[in-house]
Amino acid sequence: MEVYSFTKEDWENRLLAIGEPKFRAGQILEWLYKKRVSRWEDMTNLPSGLRDKLASEFPISPLEQIRVNGSADTTRKFLFRLTDGQMIESVLIPASPALYGEASDRRTICISSQVGCAYGCKFCASGLDGWKRNLTAGEIVSQFLRVEELGGEKINNIVFMGMGEPLANYDNLLRAIGILNAPWGIGLGARHMTVSTSGLVPRIRDLGAQPLQIRLAISLHGATDEVRTKIMPVNKKHPLADLLDACGDYVRRKKQKITFEYILIRDLNDSSEQARLLASHARKLNAKINLIPYNTVEGLPWERPAEACQEEFLSTVRRGGADATLRREKGHDIAAACGQLRLQVEKSFAHTPPLN
Ligand code: SAH
Ligand code: SF4
Repeated sequence: MEVYSFTKEDWENRLLAIGEPKFRAGQILEWLYKKRVSRWEDMTNLPSGLRDKLASEFPISPLEQIRVNGSADTTRKFLFRLTDGQMIESVLIPASPALYGEASDRRTICISSQVGCAYGCKFCASGLDGWKRNLTAGEIVSQFLRVEELGGEKINNIVFMGMGEPLANYDNLLRAIGILNAPWGIGLGARHMTVSTSGLVPRIRDLGAQPLQIRLAISLHGATDEVRTKIMPVNKKHPLADLLDACGDYVRRKKQKITFEYILIRDLNDSSEQARLLASHARKLNAKINLIPYNTVEGLPWERPAEACQEEFLSTVRRGGADATLRREKGHDIAAACGQLRLQVEKSFAHTPPLN
């Protein structure tokens, strides 16, 4: 297992096993997470013999940046290569009062949890190529470290809305959240982390039962089983009533507001009946609704509704008594469709003749 997957306890056990005192764990973690040093030889308060031993047993390999889209004052999307050659994306979203509707200093990272996705939602680029593998906890944590380093700014908010279904990689996700949250790790409060799921009901219940105040976002995208099943195969296994029931438990246990994400897709889920039903589901749970105009994906037939229709949908939802916002900024399109950059680059690699 790699270095950024280890908890404090893991380090203590490893150190004891090689005859080193436990307190070295604290020193190592201080270098990795407080001083952000990623070379063993630079960790000067460790004896040099130990540094050599650690270097040979636990090589540190920061994520390799392949490409970046966007500029410093907008959303930036990073493409990284993992040690086995697979690629993932992370997105950095700067403070944006327009997005959050308040004077906000939120700097958000959108993190991937898997390479590809097995859930095959019909509108999503991440699932187009199927599922490759789970990310390790270390690969999840590394996205935070690397994007903070490359972006040059402290990040204070995490959304698990990148490639993959985070709750299908539950153990590694929770291990990573533990490291991101721990005082010896990144030290970010669980209330500043949001896990987005397409609706894995049993795992939503598991997440509700564990102690951290992690926020929950549900990719709803349809207010009836009929519409939802058309675009989200997961709905056959976990229909809407079960999903809403698990959401209700989460809200009661955590005493938190959850979010419904709802992509607006033309002629698919944008009727006024869907808007009314969506409002009714949200009102019962006191959930917040995020309406997101669909971001077109090459090779997929879907389109976003005209702006007037988006506004009409928003008004209907609000008239139904629900708290809703509509994402209007063009700059955020880039964040709305994780998986696209990887797909583009993989396609362009595939079309590049081999060098010889
Ligand atoms: N698998 C998780 C998290 C990753 S997807 C989930 O489905 O919730 C993160 C969000 O991006 C989801 O709400 C997803 O539905 C949305 N999304 C995917 N493709 C999109 C697109 N083309 N345009 C807008 N949003 C998209
Ligand atoms: Fe997977 Fe989420 Fe995309 Fe569905 S929307 S295919 S669950 S990443």
